[in-house]
Amino acid sequence: MAKAGQTEPIEALLKEGRKFPPSKDFVKQAQVKSASIYKDAGGDLVRFWEKQAKRLRWMRPWKKALEWKLPYAKWFVGGKLNVSDNCLDRHVEGPHKNKAAFIWEGEPGDSRVLTYRDLWREVNRFASALSKHGVKKGDAVTIYMPMIPELPIAMLACARIGAPHSVVFGGFSPESLSDRINDCKSRIVITSDGGYRRGGTVPLKKNTDGALKACSFVSTVIVYRRTGQEIAWQDGRDVWWHDFIKTGDAYIKPEPMDAEDMLYLLYTSGSTGKPKGIIHTTGGYLTGITATHRMIFDLREDDVYWCTADIGWVTGHSYIVYGPLANGATSVMYEGTPDYPDKDRFWRIVEKYGVTILYTAPTAIRTFVRWGEQFPNRCDLSSLRLLGTVGEPINPEAWVWYWQVIGRRKCPIVDTWWQTETGQILITPLPGITVAKPGSATRPFPGVSADVVNDKGESVDAGYLVLKKPWPAMLRGIYGDPERFVKQYWSQVPGVYFTGDGAKRDEDGYFWLLGRIDDVMNISGHRVSTMEVESALVDHPAVAEAAVIGRTHDIKGQAIAAFVTIKSSVTATDPLKDEIKAHVAKKIGALARPDDVIYAAELPKTRSGKIMRRLLRDVAEGRALGDTTTLADPAVVADLKQKYEDAE
Ligand code: ATP
Ligand code: MG
Repeated sequence: MAKAGQTEPIEALLKEGRKFPPSKDFVKQAQVKSASIYKDAGGDLVRFWEKQAKRLRWMRPWKKALEWKLPYAKWFVGGKLNVSDNCLDRHVEGPHKNKAAFIWEGEPGDSRVLTYRDLWREVNRFASALSKHGVKKGDAVTIYMPMIPELPIAMLACARIGAPHSVVFGGFSPESLSDRINDCKSRIVITSDGGYRRGGTVPLKKNTDGALKACSFVSTVIVYRRTGQEIAWQDGRDVWWHDFIKTGDAYIKPEPMDAEDMLYLLYTSGSTGKPKGIIHTTGGYLTGITATHRMIFDLREDDVYWCTADIGWVTGHSYIVYGPLANGATSVMYEGTPDYPDKDRFWRIVEKYGVTILYTAPTAIRTFVRWGEQFPNRCDLSSLRLLGTVGEPINPEAWVWYWQVIGRRKCPIVDTWWQTETGQILITPLPGITVAKPGSATRPFPGVSADVVNDKGESVDAGYLVLKKPWPAMLRGIYGDPERFVKQYWSQVPGVYFTGDGAKRDEDGYFWLLGRIDDVMNISGHRVSTMEVESALVDHPAVAEAAVIGRTHDIKGQAIAAFVTIKSSVTATDPLKDEIKAHVAKKIGALARPDDVIYAAELPKTRSGKIMRRLLRDVAEGRALGDTTTLADPAVVADLKQKYEDAE
């Protein structure tokens, strides 16, 4: 707590005392059982990461493990390797040859299984075809596809020949796509006619045609036929995937890549403003994600692992494609939405394939809470043994629901904090060791140095989350904008990486993410975090999801406006609003009592499912809306704007 006259970056209000140790059975079989790993790695983090890197296949060993000239880090300098060689060839040469790499399910219910050998075969052909078409090491390729196996095939093919890819999430508009193509100047775009979503189709080729009006330098569009829908065709530029791949040979040697060569470029989700093109490289990246994927998900040979993210986000890059494949895992991949044809689709998939590890997002969990338990309860979820979350802080109530209803009180939950920029998970439980506390991402992964500081860089109980030492999968820059790189991440607090997130640390050294620094509210001189007020709101039995913002107030500086969605089974009334306000005051203090409660059918979210509080601030202040290109559904904000104006 801040002392009188001293403002700390944030105050901590919420006390969550519940603790969940892993079960004896889980501990017995766990990959990582001894907490000494933290001490060992902490003693010499470079040696720790070198040990992890040695599990990969290198074409040439590195000379120097880390070269650190703030803010630029180079990992495994002088080493050479190829990511597709590590993800495919290595397994195809051994006992994993015919193991399932992907178990894929399309939204209409069609399904395909691709073994490591199948994937290797497709990737070779496609990579060879790209190479014959003139795509060379260093040439950027844009990929705009639905969640079908050809998406990872295209990524791995690019990686095989050393062409950095830029995957653009298939939900983005033509404008967002053309912005991203223009930013990296890729001459090749890989797409499909369409993709299935919520019973309809998404017109990906049509969107691509629209985007390319502003990108005349694009010479080739490779189109996979997924839906068979009607599309326009530009001769000379457009080519069908099935024709294109035939021009490739059965094998192409993986390009030896420098550890520091670019693997891909990926734009952040844009919760706070204009998305940034984040650069990730080869050796350190693969090391970081492979080690974290193996240890955090306690990966075993017979696991059926399912990460429900879209590959268009970093979670999909690191923990659907590269991490699981490098580890020789079997992954489930699903094309569509969780409510098609019914709200039990995820649980049907878990039951059908015997999923053992499920990795999803708080936004999805809160939606499942709103829909009700009847959907998971009608499926057999007994195969599950470990659960994970990523993307936003998870409210303790949602965590406990996930643990009880989905995990049936026996699966540990790993709440993993990381960013597009960090490439790999950085703050997380290790499921066989960590006693979880709902709402806390717990501790930095071994070999990761994190702290909570004030503006001067001094450690405090609640403040800015920073990273003090380099980690292997860290970003190497913002594409085409070195100044923004320095300003955004390396200038706020001297000498350390600034995450932009607030956090507090408790008496056990656990980290609790408090939301974004930009979203922190200032109520009568107290710096209040969005996460804590939202968690207190979600703690009320009627509330499924909440977003709070500070709006200008004459006396207090800011007043709290709370936008809430309530559970399907509850009716929205005025007395309920007062009850909700009182609940927050009781849970975390009168200071945090919302001035307004606004019922919302939906909250404005990014395409990746994160709440966009900056748009809610615009609504509450009656301003024009800021950048909305990454907004999932514009109707949601329009609706709230109307409601807000009507109420005034
Ligand atoms: P932009 O940087 O353009 O605003 P973004 O930050 O939403 O976009 P991502 O890189 O996808 O883009 O998201 C990373 C952010 O997500 C983190 O900085 C943090 O705010 C939030 N986050 C991710 N995982 C967790 C978690 N387990 N707990 C709390 N917050 C999380
Ligand atoms: Mg961010």
